[in-house]
Amino acid sequence: MAESHSAAERAAALHALLHRYAHAYYTLDAPLVPDAEYDRVFRELQALEAAHSELQSADSPTQRVGGKVLDGFSPVRHRVPMLSIRTETDTSEDGARAFDKRVMKELAKELAKDLVKNTPAEAASTLQAALFESNPSSVQVFTSSDAIEYVAELKFDGLAINLRYEAGVLVQAATRGDGETGEDVTQNIRTIGQIPLRLRADARAAPQVLEVRGEVYMRRDDFEALNQRQRDKIAAGEANEKTYVNPRNTAAGAVRQLDPAIAAQRPLSFFAYALGEVSADFKVQSQWEMLQAFRDWGLPVSADARLCSGADALVAFHADVAARRSQLPFDIDGVVYKLNSFDQQRALGFVSREPRWAVAHKYPAEEQLTTVQAIDIQVGRTGKLTPVAKLAPVFVGNVTVSNVTLHNEDETRRKDVREADTVIVRRAGDVIPEIVGVVLDRRPADGGEAFDLYKRLGGQCPECQSAIAREEGEADWRCTGGLFCPAQRKQAMLHFASRKALDIEGLGDKLVDQLVDAGIAKSLPDLYRLGLAKLSALERMAEKSAQNIVDALEKSKQTTLARFLYGLGIRHVGETTAKDLARHFGTVDALMDASTDALLQVADVGPVVAESVHAFFAEPHNREVIEQLRACGLSWPEGQAPDASTQILLGKTIVLTGTLPTLSREQAQAMLEAAGAKVAGSVSKKTSYVVAGAEAGSKLTKAQELGVPVLDEAQMLGLLQGA
Ligand code: NAD
Repeated sequence: MAESHSAAERAAALHALLHRYAHAYYTLDAPLVPDAEYDRVFRELQALEAAHSELQSADSPTQRVGGKVLDGFSPVRHRVPMLSIRTETDTSEDGARAFDKRVMKELAKELAKDLVKNTPAEAASTLQAALFESNPSSVQVFTSSDAIEYVAELKFDGLAINLRYEAGVLVQAATRGDGETGEDVTQNIRTIGQIPLRLRADARAAPQVLEVRGEVYMRRDDFEALNQRQRDKIAAGEANEKTYVNPRNTAAGAVRQLDPAIAAQRPLSFFAYALGEVSADFKVQSQWEMLQAFRDWGLPVSADARLCSGADALVAFHADVAARRSQLPFDIDGVVYKLNSFDQQRALGFVSREPRWAVAHKYPAEEQLTTVQAIDIQVGRTGKLTPVAKLAPVFVGNVTVSNVTLHNEDETRRKDVREADTVIVRRAGDVIPEIVGVVLDRRPADGGEAFDLYKRLGGQCPECQSAIAREEGEADWRCTGGLFCPAQRKQAMLHFASRKALDIEGLGDKLVDQLVDAGIAKSLPDLYRLGLAKLSALERMAEKSAQNIVDALEKSKQTTLARFLYGLGIRHVGETTAKDLARHFGTVDALMDASTDALLQVADVGPVVAESVHAFFAEPHNREVIEQLRACGLSWPEGQAPDASTQILLGKTIVLTGTLPTLSREQAQAMLEAAGAKVAGSVSKKTSYVVAGAEAGSKLTKAQELGVPVLDEAQMLGLLQGA
């Protein structure tokens, strides 16, 4: 008693949940949860009803199809109901075999019934006993010889539509609705170019009445292009525009759209695969023949349908489609097997909302629900800080997923993912898993606050406690302790040893992995403290190779300031910028103490580079490493830090254009830079002077337009002499 009471309560709760999900999915075209979650709840209710027959009711979601007619559409009563299809829950090949077995059994039963019916009364009961009671395997008698013929098709993920043709002309198009009554969407369907308004009759005459059923869907490329247009509109500031979530709901939303002009803008496609009402002059006898007839009449039919004989062929079809699924131009959520012969279909008939002669064989779901147990922040090899959601492990797209990258702070906020949230995880094909969205109504009442990476980390790298920074216009926060941070060690060493930096031959990926993983080298100075003994003790390290590395390290100690700066791996400081910095500041000390303003004086150094260099040297951990490297014996010829009294053009930006009479472009640039000027490549309002030679082009014109003073070579030389 108590048990059935709680079963009744559970059933009521599941009813309510399924009704809510189905309303959002079918009526609003905006699902609240992934299909797999809906299917899971649906199966739980089915199992409950099977165990407690008193719980079965006509209004149970297990007995009904689809959704309600939307206000604004005229209802259309289907002459032949539009049903659902039983889903085979076993996604392995056993799913196909189970269906074939069931069909064989049921066909045999139907045959046996016929046999009994046509047998004289006195013999019938004996025959019945023989067929049904004594030996269950007797049903085999009828089916063992021939494999059953099926048509295997793709299960398109779109919206089912009934097209009514009378005398070959499209007169009405309706949605499935609740299976009995759908919505009249004729005007919208007429805008789909693939759907013929009149059936072709050259190969085969069209029947008087033909109801064609099929799927309206949106191809993935059309969906992407539509979303790109939407993004462009949003970027252009158009109000009330949004991007769409997935092709299925976008297609369904477009068809169930009151304004046909809007529907016409959505790129929709169609595949025909079933029949509704047909007149007596429709002579086709099988599903396969019907698909051919549809083609003859000019209706789009998928080229992927196959005529299959027996369970093995179904299994092969399922596997073949699984392998091609991610390359298909549209979404599917499984395949459908249908008995080919219409006679056999009629013999098996229907149970409640489903035909017994067809089954949907799904693939492992590509979307599942799970919860976020924590949001960790990982430090990458280059110092990039990446928020990663740690999930309650979930099986999705054929793998178990427990970590999903959230990419960066903006993405995390855009999706508003928080700890303890229930989220939809998607993994399709070999694509890395992603969080598609949060199920907001499952967010706990005390559901934390919006993600704030800086606050979360207290402004410090979780690996090395160096300061973190996010450059303007960049999506990522980064650890600024590049030389010190354990997460960045390997990358720092490899970069430092690379050819354009300290050029330490032999210090490659494998050796760096070995040194760091064994804890022998923690930072750059450790490399210079290795010595022959430690190196030759490493696995697979011959003494000769160890000696070569010791020699290479020794040799690298005599370097140049530019190579050394480049080797530090400061973000945005490539080889050329390193050279510019070295030339400009002359010594590493002058550079380390330079303000951003001073850095901005360097040729081709803009605010982003200046900020990055400044932040790097502001981090005490980095300065410490540089000191240690010097203590290890690294040295370079120190240039002269430029003398302020010779820097008469400090703060000036000069652009060179055309051919000067005596100086080459390089000579002129070097002279200007030596006097502290910044030589830039393009003219702007901030340009102090343009130095123009023969055949000066657009830069000169621009300077004249902006009123920037223009000098010739002689005037430039005068300027340099302080004239
Ligand atoms: P169904 O899975 O029972 O299958 C029937 C439908 O399959 C047809 O109406 C037709 O539209 C489609 N179909 C595609 N290709 C076909 C083919 N070759 N031959 C025949 N039919 C084909 O569909 P259903 O009854 O609409 O409902 C169940 C589906 O909807 C499930 O996949 C379920 O997960 C999903 N659903 C999801 C939610 C949610 O909240 N996410 C809610 C309700 C339903």
